Formats: sequence, C-alpha cells, structure tokens
Amino acid sequence: MTDGNYQVLARKWRPQKFDQVVGQSAIVRTLSNALDQGRVAHAYCFSGIRGVGKTTIARLVAKGLNCSKTDVPTSEPCGECTACVEIEESRNLDVVELDAASQTGVDSIRQLNEVARYTPLRDRYRVFIIDETHMLSTNAFNALLKTLEEPPPHVVFMLATTEPHKILPTVLSRCQHYPLGRISQAEITGQLQRIASAENVSVSDDGLAIVAIAADGSLRDAQSLLDKLIAFGGDQVDDETVASLLGMVDRELLFGATKLVAEQDLAGILKFVNKMVEQGTDLHQFALGLLGHLRALLVVATIEKAGEILHLPENDLARLRNQAAMFKIDDLDRAFALLSGSEYTIKQSEVPRYQLEMVLCRLARMPRLEPIEELVSQLRS
Ligand SMILES: [Zn+2]
Repeated sequence: MTDGNYQVLARKWRPQKFDQVVGQSAIVRTLSNALDQGRVAHAYCFSGIRGVGKTTIARLVAKGLNCSKTDVPTSEPCGECTACVEIEESRNLDVVELDAASQTGVDSIRQLNEVARYTPLRDRYRVFIIDETHMLSTNAFNALLKTLEEPPPHVVFMLATTEPHKILPTVLSRCQHYPLGRISQAEITGQLQRIASAENVSVSDDGLAIVAIAADGSLRDAQSLLDKLIAFGGDQVDDETVASLLGMVDRELLFGATKLVAEQDLAGILKFVNKMVEQGTDLHQFALGLLGHLRALLVVATIEKAGEILHLPENDLARLRNQAAMFKIDDLDRAFALLSGSEYTIKQSEVPRYQLEMVLCRLARMPRLEPIEELVSQLRS
C-alpha cells in the first residue's frame, strides 16, 4: 500500500475467468454454453450502466474465442497464453478495440470493415470490440451495417453501450442483445468484502454496505469508492470516514432519530440534533437519508420479500422490520410526506438546524392514526 505503484482496484480485480464475473449469471451462462458448443454469434450487443461488466465480458468472450490452450473456442480461457495475455493488455492484433466516443466518424468503421475481410493474423477469430457504440455517426452505423449483413465467418463483433436506444435499429437487430442489469447491493458488498480482506484493509460490513448503496449497481463505481477510502484512511477505514467521504449519513443516526420520533421523545430529539451539529453532520444530507430510511421502513412494512426491492442483507431487513413495527403504515406514509415537504426548506435555510428540529418534533407529536377497524370495534364495545 505504501509503494508508489498502487494499481486501482477495478483493474487489479478485473475478472480473468467467467466464474469471477460478479452478477450477470444468466448472461455468463449463456455465453459460456455458446463458446463450449461452438455456437458463437457474429454480433453481440452488451448494454447497461457504467461498471456492470460490458467490456469485461466482451474481453472474456474474445479470450474464449482465441485462447490457444485449446483447438476450439472455450468457456475457460487459460489467461496465460500469448493470445489471452495480449487481449488482457489490449494489444492483440486480432482483437481490435475501438472507442466510439473518440472515433465517431465513418472512416474508422471503413478501416474496420477493410480489416474484417481478411482472415485472422494468428488466432481463430477477428474480434471487434466497439465501446460506447451509441456515439457512432449515422454514416458510421450504415458502414457497420454492411459488414454485419454479410459477416465473414471468422469475424465477431461485440458492441458495448450505455444507451442501446441510440444504436441504429437495423444494427441492433443483427446483434444478440444482452442487457446487463445493475449488480445487486448484496453481490457488490460480497465482492468488496473479498477485496478488502485480500488487500488487508479493515472496513466494517456496514461501511461496505454503504459503499455498495452509493455505487447504485455499478461494481466499478464501488471499487473506485473503495480506492478513495483506502487513499484517505489507509488500511483502517472506520464508518465515520466512509460516511463523511461519501457524503452519506451514518445509518446509526437514521435508526436513532427514528426511534426518538417513535417514542415521541422531544427532549431526546433536540439533544440528538445538537449532537449532530457539534459533530458537523450535514443536516440536509441527514434529512435526505432519513427520507430514504422512512421509505425503507414503508417497503418492509408493505411487502414480505422486501429484499427484492431494497437489496439489503437479511439482518438489515430484520432490523428495519423491528423499527417499522413501531409505526402504523399510515403514520409512516404521513411522516414521509411531512419530511419530504421540509427537505427543500432545510436545504435552502440559513439555519437548517431550526428547520430540522421543528420537523422532527412535528413528526414525533404527529397524532397516531387508529386503523378504522379498531375504531369500529371500539364503537361496538
Ligand atoms: Zn489462453
């Protein structure tokens, strides 16, 4: 960690084998089968937000097609032969990577079409990986279409894009299109745990969960955030560092404030806000965090399989359920409405502390609604 050659985690931990890919299991299985059965398409399109594995998977397919350890395409490229190593280092003459963001014009595609006509120099396939494909000009798309309409047998195209709707429909329809979904918080947290442990960095599971939430489904973003945390905190990263560096609110604060509201403890609330002010907590971030927390309570109170919506580990869900049980659903609903009405005021206020104190006290004093069934039964008795 102290030497000058720190390699960013996303690069260091880039999957070298299909079974190291985090998430995307159905797509990985389909592609592995296609490679093993020799049923490889001439064009693939991998779409999805940044950092979900589009170019990683494209490179793995390229290695599987050209790995020289076997005589035919394989789902288990060795990662060690010349072909595999050159693909990893983006210097394989038969695997061309084109960044459409910087080469949008028709000329780069014309060159590519020209190269595609010739058989591979050394390996089994000529592979063209086009990153940010949606940036190509219309002329470039039309030029690409020519080759896609009659692809030479030794050619495989892999288009990666964050915006598949901007790809010429006639181009997209000639590709096997695989939309890569966001990676779940649980999967990202799991991978961060593996990385932290292998890198001898101590971060709590809670801290890593916060990183995973902030990354919003992008493994690369999560790894970059972990890079930042390590750069800042070294090999001991505590939860406060995580929260302050990510501009996130410590979850203990959210559970704590909500408990005081549930217990209608006004004095406790004022002391609580005072402590946050002394600790320099960003009160607007806190209000936003509390909104998210109330929403999470509503979700666990509403549906049984809340994990499918919230993507949190089971012990976190259990903790949320315990807290949600302190409220009726209608009360949570009204609390959410009241707080979201004040969030902007807290953001704009010269003294956000006053606004926050008042809204939390109002939440605590809010008369609790009696469910209509209980009222009816009270009337009857
Ligand atoms: Zn190989």
